[in-house]
Amino acid sequence: MIAYADDPAERMPHLAFVAPNFDPSRPVPVRIHSECMTGDVFGSRRCDCGEQLDISLKITAERGGVVIYLRQEGRGLCIGFYEKPCEPWSVDGTPWESGMSF
Ligand SMILES: [Zn+2]
Repeated sequence: MIAYADDPAERMPHLAFVAPNFDPSRPVPVRIHSECMTGDVFGSRRCDCGEQLDISLKITAERGGVVIYLRQEGRGLCIGFYEKPCEPWSVDGTPWESGMSF
């Protein structure tokens, strides 16, 4: 795994998962994946991000490829350290409503 950031103090750098059999002299599969904490980590049923990431990691491991993991919430779920103009969501992925609790 390789971490990338413009600022060495960046706490959440972008990541590259490079297969051990990576050979840059031949064409290789590359997946650019936008972070989705609810899908990637918690297996949310509201998106297929986790499934896409799992499949990408499997294919790139088998074929010597790379998964580039962009540290950004791709679908605006308001999770993490990002300040984005979007609505907050509950734990199960439904829109947060006033008065809801976990
Ligand atoms: Zn997702």
